[in-house]
Amino acid sequence: MTLRLPDGAAVAVAITVDFDGESLWLAKGREQDETTMSKGRYCGEVAAPRLLALFNRLGISTSWGMPVHTYRTWPELALRIARDHEVFCHGVCHESLAGLSLEAERDLLRRQVDAYEGMFGSRPKGYRAPGGPTTPHTLDLLDEFGFEWDSSLAGGDVHPYRPRRVLERHPERGTRYGARHDVLEFSTTVDQEDWFSFEFEFGGNPGMADPDLVLKRWQSMIDWAAREEPGGAVAITLHPQSIGRPHRFEMLERFLGAMQARSDIWIASMTQIAATWQGETE
Ligand SMILES: [Zn+2]
Repeated sequence: MTLRLPDGAAVAVAITVDFDGESLWLAKGREQDETTMSKGRYCGEVAAPRLLALFNRLGISTSWGMPVHTYRTWPELALRIARDHEVFCHGVCHESLAGLSLEAERDLLRRQVDAYEGMFGSRPKGYRAPGGPTTPHTLDLLDEFGFEWDSSLAGGDVHPYRPRRVLERHPERGTRYGARHDVLEFSTTVDQEDWFSFEFEFGGNPGMADPDLVLKRWQSMIDWAAREEPGGAVAITLHPQSIGRPHRFEMLERFLGAMQARSDIWIASMTQIAATWQGETE
């Protein structure tokens, strides 16, 4: 048991939203393809407001990852989201971290922190690397900038943890781990999100999964965590441009309704959940 959850709760569920808007497609070099870019516009103009209205109607607190490009494109909406929900850093323009030097990655993070403070008037507490990969420097930099939590890695499942530093990784001598980082990690895998299940891309991701299959996957993970390893947390990741389409959005409404009806589930923002952290059990 690593979290002290509110009375009666066996598992915390964090609804995180990667509000990528156009930045996702810009980072993939698709700016000359207005059809693809319109998916990003749909994200900001239709889907994100639809998600926000649902969360506010249900009265749940959620966490929104926004690249700087997103909140500078839709500043009014971003501030409306920040009024009732948490906003965390998710790149300047959804840049992949793959192969970045320490200095380049530090500069990228500094630009995000500065822009965030200028926009929201506070220091960001959470981070998720855009597009997947992190580097050997990422966690050191998150510690350096004072981030409280990260949700980029997959080193756990139903319990947050503070990742250990890698002292040496050698093909024959093996890997030696050292002291833990300060930042609290909420694991995330493609099983816990919508994008790869749903989003069809020509020559790329097949997507097109039945929404009920995804619903079953999320519910099974949460049910198991509550039953077998209480005191943990499950992070679910939503992309407005994918989950916002009506046939999937309808599944999300059913999912959140079922979660809210249970007294053993606490739906909260990542920072609210991180505040209940009690340290590692060992
Ligand atoms: Zn993203």
